[in-house]
Order: sequence, then C-alpha cells, then structure tokens
Amino acid sequence: MNDFPYKKIMMVGPQGSGKTTQAKILAEKLGYKYLGTGEMFREIIQKKEPGFEQLVELFEKGQLVDDQTTCELVKSTLNKPEYQDGVVIDGYPRTVAQKNIFDPGFDIILYIKVADEIAIQRLSSRGRADDTPEAIEKRLDIYHHETGPLLDIFLNEGKLWVVDGEQSVEAVTKQIFKRLGINF
Ligand code: AMP
Repeated sequence: MNDFPYKKIMMVGPQGSGKTTQAKILAEKLGYKYLGTGEMFREIIQKKEPGFEQLVELFEKGQLVDDQTTCELVKSTLNKPEYQDGVVIDGYPRTVAQKNIFDPGFDIILYIKVADEIAIQRLSSRGRADDTPEAIEKRLDIYHHETGPLLDIFLNEGKLWVVDGEQSVEAVTKQIFKRLGINF
C-alpha cells in the first residue's frame, strides 16, 4: 500500500454518528493508529492525572476542553514514532481555532452525516456516563456552532467527503472503503 495517498484521515460527524466505530474499523483495516480525543480525555479522567481535575466537570456538562490543552496533547501524540505510518483521527479539530493552532494536515476528511434526531436516538441508548440529555443537547449545539464552520473550511480546501451515516454500520463502512479504494 505504498502508493496509498491517505496517511492522515480525519473522521468527523455529530456525536452519535458512528464516527468512532467507523474510525476504529478503518484504522484496523489500514494498520493505522487510532487517535480519538474523546477517548484520550476519558482515559486522563479515569487515571486522575494531576493538572486535569477540571476535565470532569467539563465532561459532565458536555463542554469542550480548552483549545490550548487539546492542541498540545494532540500534537505531542501525533509526534510519536508509532503515529508516523498512518493515523485515523476522531474528534480533532473540533473548532476553527484548534485548526489554526495546530493543523495536522489531513489528506482527507470523512464527514459522517446524520440528522440530529437520529444522533439523539442513538446516544440515548448507548448509556455512557457523559450521555445525560443535557450533555447530549449541549454537545450537539456545540457541534453545529463550532464544528460546522470548520467543515465549511475543509469543504473549501476540497478535502471533505460526505458519507451517509444513516445506514447500518456495515453499509457506512462500505461507503468509506469504496471512497478510499480499499476492498471491503
Ligand atoms: P467525544 O467522545 O468525541 O464525544 O468527546 C467527549 C468529550 O471530550 C467532549 O464532550 C469534549 O469535552 C472532549 N473533547 C473531545 N475532543 C475534543 C476536542 N477536539 N476539543 C475539545 N474537547 C474535546
């Protein structure tokens, strides 16, 4: 796969779009590292790492972690040797400011599109601790206001590819693989 042109792939979509599931399937298929910023922060909280105590409250409210902290963590992770052969990034950048602070230079952005109603239905049934109705609503609101403008920028850069996320996991995976020219 030496001539495969997609080394840095971004997966984006509202919470409940299935982007994490798809990002992990794709990373495994390509033998790439998976970097999910939501997962990264949940691990930091679980390990009770010093200096990150304020994350718990942000998470419970469904608010974003500050750009500086987020960008530094992502940048240092992506600099590690094991991330150099290829990576699927799930959840970063989430704001235009984050892209301006640190842009990993994606080869393609896969936008998993689903309507809010579908996202809410799916989130309400997955039972994660930070999936309270208030947090879900807050995260979707942030997604539209903060991540929406970012998608417009990627669209203008000609790097955005829209995937219909309102289908089965397998059907969504098939769309993605087809777009990237990999066998299902
Ligand atoms: P997720 O699992 O992607 O829904 O992310 C869960 C939570 O992690 C979000 O509600 C944010 O608090 C935090 N988070 C994840 N990615 C970012 C990011 N790029 N910028 C700021 N906060 C983030």
